[in-house]
Amino acid sequence: DVAHGAILYLDDITVSFDGFKALNALSLNISAGELRCIIGPNGAGKTTMMDVITGKTRPDVGKAFFGSTIDLLRMRENEIASVGIGRKFQKPTVFEQLSVFENLELALKGDRGVKQSMFFRLNSEQADRIGDMLKLIHLKDSAQRTAGLLSHGQKQWLEIGMLLMQDPKLLLLDEPVAGMTDEETERTAELFLSLEGNHSLVVVEHDMKFIHELTRDNPAKKVTVLHEGSVLAEGSLADVQANEKVVEVYLGR
Ligand code: ADP
Repeated sequence: DVAHGAILYLDDITVSFDGFKALNALSLNISAGELRCIIGPNGAGKTTMMDVITGKTRPDVGKAFFGSTIDLLRMRENEIASVGIGRKFQKPTVFEQLSVFENLELALKGDRGVKQSMFFRLNSEQADRIGDMLKLIHLKDSAQRTAGLLSHGQKQWLEIGMLLMQDPKLLLLDEPVAGMTDEETERTAELFLSLEGNHSLVVVEHDMKFIHELTRDNPAKKVTVLHEGSVLAEGSLADVQANEKVVEVYLGR
């Protein structure tokens, strides 16, 4: 009964911590190539949802499928990363002492790159891929810079680039523009919109300006509002913003 074409299918997921339901019968479908924004107040269950998808937290009940065949609840955390799900946490984590280029090089080579020599010669196709990525993440002119010297926004882009070197089908992004300048936020929206279609993206975000930018090209694009561990509303940004239950949750009763 996996929804046709869904890259991610969560059905009736409940997660309890000492009897408290962080997720309460949560169901969510993400289509292949979709960019889905997920909003919701603190404590809504957004992080717990990401933890379930990536195998960090096991639900009490429910189903979680990646594509139509991969049962995420039967996989270990490290296996889930290798099937094509990339997760970006809120804080940037890059190798601060290495150059931007070397960070991407390591990401491309994966674990082997770290264990064996990271200075294994790149073939021309790999070098081209890194070059293309540098352009995409707006760091072409900073390729030789030490990553630790980048701005906060640039570090976030670098980490996103590192995730993309592994060519994930689904990217999970936790408040990617927190702490970014307006210009960096706009560039990040452009980047995500350029990934949409080829990748599926789930973006958890508080910054409504960013959500506006991500949905501007297509006002019908779906936005999901989580509250108390389940979906409170789902629909276009205009629809969910006009939804009475959503207004109540955000403005207080
Ligand atoms: P969000 O990311 O939307 O802010 P979370 O998923 O972090 O929400 O948390 C949902 C609820 O579950 C919160 O009330 C939080 O306190 C609770 N919670 C999350 N993780 C744990 C845990 N490991 N133990 C106990 N309670 C938790």
